[in-house]
Amino acid sequence: MGKVMVVGSSNTDMVVTSARMPLAGETVLGNDFSMIPGGKGANQAVAAARAGAEVAFIAKTGADDFGRKAIEDYRKDGIRTDLILTDPRVASGVAMIVVDAANGQNSIVVAPGANSYLSPQDIQGHAASIGEVEVLLVQLEIPPESVRQALEIAKAAGVRTVLNPAPAQSLDDELLSLVDIITPNESETRILTGIDPVDDAAIRRAAGLLLEQVQEAVVITLGARGVFFQDQTAPGTFIPTREVQAIDTTAAGDVFNGYLAALLADGQEFQKAIRLANEAAGISVTRKGAQPSIPYWRELAG
Ligand code: ADP
Repeated sequence: MGKVMVVGSSNTDMVVTSARMPLAGETVLGNDFSMIPGGKGANQAVAAARAGAEVAFIAKTGADDFGRKAIEDYRKDGIRTDLILTDPRVASGVAMIVVDAANGQNSIVVAPGANSYLSPQDIQGHAASIGEVEVLLVQLEIPPESVRQALEIAKAAGVRTVLNPAPAQSLDDELLSLVDIITPNESETRILTGIDPVDDAAIRRAAGLLLEQVQEAVVITLGARGVFFQDQTAPGTFIPTREVQAIDTTAAGDVFNGYLAALLADGQEFQKAIRLANEAAGISVTRKGAQPSIPYWRELAG
């Protein structure tokens, strides 16, 4: 398997399942509560590791129990954690997640804490390690200038770059030009392109716009529909995923991205990598939580 570098967020997810979402100003009684390591960067690092890649993770935590426990968990997944920085002046990132028991949909508030302090200088300090991998995978839960720094280092070293543009925000052309592969979901596609991907034609138009900005390929994730894939060589194509009984879609996109990065780092053909990443993400939505729901390579039928 190939080497993947993930630069991104580390959070602790505080998850409550509720029979329904509270409205503004309302209190509802939830069911069970759990505390689970999360954060898009960490989830994607764990997914890539469980897909079989050799994974290193650059992140920042506070010097608190949440951070220590998270790092311990990453280590258990075989992730290289010596590049994770600790800042005693700030709290580790946390996310408050409410899962709607009726349909598995979630609502999330993130308090980024130490994630906001992962600086371009921190990233620069690990430039040599970034240059050693096949694929760099980044998201947008750390400062944008740090994402840019990681992408610049990777591009200069000939490393393939994957940007999962989550959480949704608009991005400048210069940053996008450092990206080989971009993997927005539907709402991120809307924010990035101004096109609401409501039907096939709109999805194709949005992908076409993004493909003018990135170097290699656009992968729009479409939830239960699977993904739309377009690269520079052929017209775009929908790649469906298996129908499953979704109970918690937390981290579905993260599982998809981690698996995709791992399989590409391993030299797999793009559409095959997408099919397997779809399958892994589909398994994860049938289970509760972020990292505990991430399947291992051996669980995939292939
Ligand atoms: P995000 O979690 O970032 O919002 P999506 O909802 O698009 O992203 O989901 C990412 C991927 O997870 C999809 O492309 C698909 O492979 C898988 N997935 C998500 N929801 C479902 C579902 N209900 N059934 C099967 N697969 C799903």
